[in-house]
Amino acid sequence: MNFNTNFNDIAENYLFAEVADRVAAYTKAHPDKKILKLGIGDVTLPLAPEVIKALHSAVDDMSNAATFKGYGPYEGYDFLRKNIADYYKLNGVDLELSEIFVSDGAKSDLGNILDIFSKDNKVLVPDPVYPVYVDTNLMAGRKVAFMDATAENGFLPMPDKKTDADIIYLCSPNNPTGAAYTKAQLKEWVDYANKRGAVILYDAAYECFISDDNLARSIFQIEGAKTCAIEFCSFSKTAGFTGTRCGYTVIPHGLNKDGLFANKLWFRRQATKFNGVPYIVQKGAAAVFTEQGRKEILQNIAYYKRNAKIIAECMDRLNIWYTGGTNSPYIWLKCPNGMKSWEFFDFLLNEAQVVGTPGAGFGKNGEGFFRLTAFGSEEVTKQAVERIEKLLKN
Ligand code: PLP
Repeated sequence: MNFNTNFNDIAENYLFAEVADRVAAYTKAHPDKKILKLGIGDVTLPLAPEVIKALHSAVDDMSNAATFKGYGPYEGYDFLRKNIADYYKLNGVDLELSEIFVSDGAKSDLGNILDIFSKDNKVLVPDPVYPVYVDTNLMAGRKVAFMDATAENGFLPMPDKKTDADIIYLCSPNNPTGAAYTKAQLKEWVDYANKRGAVILYDAAYECFISDDNLARSIFQIEGAKTCAIEFCSFSKTAGFTGTRCGYTVIPHGLNKDGLFANKLWFRRQATKFNGVPYIVQKGAAAVFTEQGRKEILQNIAYYKRNAKIIAECMDRLNIWYTGGTNSPYIWLKCPNGMKSWEFFDFLLNEAQVVGTPGAGFGKNGEGFFRLTAFGSEEVTKQAVERIEKLLKN
């Protein structure tokens, strides 16, 4: 027996595990100190009442032989896929139900999608970005090339004459930078991918934070995307499903090459390795799209956006350079006084007991930057901002 030695190529500790380790060590040494966490991108508000109602009712369905559900469809129940298709229609995107696959979250699908692509594809990933794209490719033995996302290009790299990629990851609104592509910018990527015969793996997990109509909510709003893109979406940040687990992936029938269709390959893959998302969870997710459910989740998103504003205003007062926070729940800031990311992390933890996420953990271009999340409670956000301001004022 031999293990997969590709694991030797990935950093031993996943970013948030390292953050957790350092926080745990600090807490052990200083049990009396109250730590305020604006680090990991987890939500804090409970599920919307409409979702809870649907979950309860689905549990009742399971108690009755007439409404009990066993194995569900691999690709998700039609009642949920229909709601998702209707939601896309609001943004001018027509989808067939068979183009929508319900999953237990975007992370699983982002990793698993690699099953349908051959090993020799050239992979291009923005730097910095959500670490899952890189690590899943490295585990599978693929080499990854990076495109620089910097303050100069607004953290939104664009294709140019040197771009040479078969699988392109785009994350918009971006984790960690909060930057989001305009429709015009995405059109350039779609044109590149169609010309090259490449695929764009488009992570739209933070789509619900977009408030500017020039920005794309879905890559399928862009003409030509249905022959070159796969979109990953999640109820985690939209509706607080981080612990409930539900997402969906859109694979258009138009994405094909040499007689192979991405949609069919994915269906086959899911049918082999996945037995669907719990009926109860899908019922809860479907409630997100009802009139009342939509109203409630928009209120939650507005709450997080207010937190983002509280953090952004603090950065303004401290004259600290930052981006994000308007179409995303993340504030991406330049570490003050030329500090490096982990240096600033330790400084904030030790001196103010505030936890953020070091930008360097998202890629080399993240060095010297730091991410704060708006997903905390309003109370914790306000307290953290107060402590940061006190610490950095002079
Ligand atoms: N994509 C991005 C960009 C994320 O930041 C996250 C979670 O933080 C995910 C995907 C994972 O989403 P899910 O909870 O649906 O697995």
